[in-house]
Amino acid sequence: MADNAGTVYDVVILGGGSGGYACALRAAQLGLQVVLVEKGELGGTCLHRGCIPTKALLHAAEVADSSRESEQFGVRSTFEGIDMPAVNEYKDGVVARLYKGLQGLVKSRKITYVEGIGRLVGPTTVEVDGQRYEGRHVVLATGSAPKSLPGLELDGRLIVSSDHALRRDSVPASVVVLGGGVIGCEFASVWRSFGAEVTIVEALPHLVPLEDEQASKALERAFRKRKIGFELGARFAGVEKSDTGVKVSLENGKTIEAELLLVAVGRGPVSQELGYEQVGVEMERGFVKVDAHCQTNVPTISAVGDLIPTLQLAHVGFGEGIMVAERLAGLDPAPIDYDGVPRVTYSEPEVASVGITEARAKEKYGDDGVETVTYDLAGNGKSQILKTAGFVKLVRQKDGPVVGIHMVGSRVGELVAEAQLIYGWEAYPDDVAQLIHAHPTQTEAVGEAHLALAGKPLHAHS
Ligand SMILES: Cc1cc2nc3c(=O)[nH]c(=O)nc-3n(C[C@H](O)[C@H](O)[C@H](O)COP(=O)(O)OP(=O)(O)OC[C@H]3O[C@@H](n4cnc5c(N)ncnc54)[C@H](O)[C@@H]3O)c2cc1C
Repeated sequence: MADNAGTVYDVVILGGGSGGYACALRAAQLGLQVVLVEKGELGGTCLHRGCIPTKALLHAAEVADSSRESEQFGVRSTFEGIDMPAVNEYKDGVVARLYKGLQGLVKSRKITYVEGIGRLVGPTTVEVDGQRYEGRHVVLATGSAPKSLPGLELDGRLIVSSDHALRRDSVPASVVVLGGGVIGCEFASVWRSFGAEVTIVEALPHLVPLEDEQASKALERAFRKRKIGFELGARFAGVEKSDTGVKVSLENGKTIEAELLLVAVGRGPVSQELGYEQVGVEMERGFVKVDAHCQTNVPTISAVGDLIPTLQLAHVGFGEGIMVAERLAGLDPAPIDYDGVPRVTYSEPEVASVGITEARAKEKYGDDGVETVTYDLAGNGKSQILKTAGFVKLVRQKDGPVVGIHMVGSRVGELVAEAQLIYGWEAYPDDVAQLIHAHPTQTEAVGEAHLALAGKPLHAHS
């Protein structure tokens, strides 16, 4: 155990996930002395149980679909099935390489990495296995864990969370996915591509309910075509287990039988019994409350990532971690514009957005204060080549900038980078309309939508 008695570091960070490690890397880059405490694996949820392994599964799912549907493109191949241990080996290989790289990065920045369960014991102190780490500042970054519903116990076998689902070594014949948010839709998409019968149960009226309603409806249409079933506006009532599976009952009286129940009803903050309240940190429903610069009510303590009530996304954790590091190093970083954070659901088809929905724009600017245009991917050459359907929808403040961009279709997640610049730079449709987009790419659909909104559509009816 390191003897650090008397050492006062600049920053002690509790939790080495996206938020914590980004903060550590940036703080060290700015010359601060950093301690990073992690009880499990550096990289946290995103690297080991979230973004990366799920996207590897989604890529394997895309390969399965391509081989199954190759005849449509004149390519003869035979789809023989999914070898789940081999898929896992590929997925785990991706994670392992990134994990190794991240460990090397933390080491090379001379960050003091402490393995163990940490606890906040004072406004500037974290304790790990009886050893105290003192900092001018402490950053809380203990992240989140899967939630369930009251009375619904996860057994890891028939009733599972995303953590369990990522470790399965076989494809279930049938699954009920409880929760039609991002995680639920991504797993539904993977399992359908792998050959399972899938039914999503969502209590709200639409899948991906935080997205623009038009995008949710387009995803629902595409899922219906893929024979992914869903029950919308349907509340879970109970589940019975048998040796072979589950029988899920809904409040509307319906029952659905399946081999597996995935509970994807959201993630709750990891903040219990870590000393936060005792030290006086203000909390709300288990989340740590922070100001626009991620500072808590205790001036020496900041918090970032899924632990605070902002969007639960890895890149939000990165952004918050970097902002806190810069603030602690005496720079003056701007607060994050959370509407400007890109959001992607990596299902087939993908849903990607930045800015605000049409409904929110109307609340903000009034019904007559908003203009929208929807450019159908039917008019986009590359999307036709890929045989994907969907759209790029723009929401604009009347006579003002574009305030929301919403997209559905294969690979549209890659278009969100340009959408983000358009939103972030408060571009007007005319500004974007004059940019020439490469042909034939899906980015052209972004250009065409702006041409249409600027009153000069090219490959669209006026
Ligand atoms: C299935 C799934 C798919 C996802 N896909 C995406 C995606 O595609 N894109 C995206 O942007 N986001 C995605 N996310 C969300 C993303 O993973 C999280 O937003 C991100 O990991 C949050 O980072 P964090 O640092 O706040 O928390 P975490 O990554 O959870 O890290 C917290 C760390 O703190 C450690 N810790 C907790 N308590 C202690 C303690 N007492 N002492 C020491 N260490 C402690 C934990 O071990 C953990 O490593 C996904 C999440 C899931 C579950």
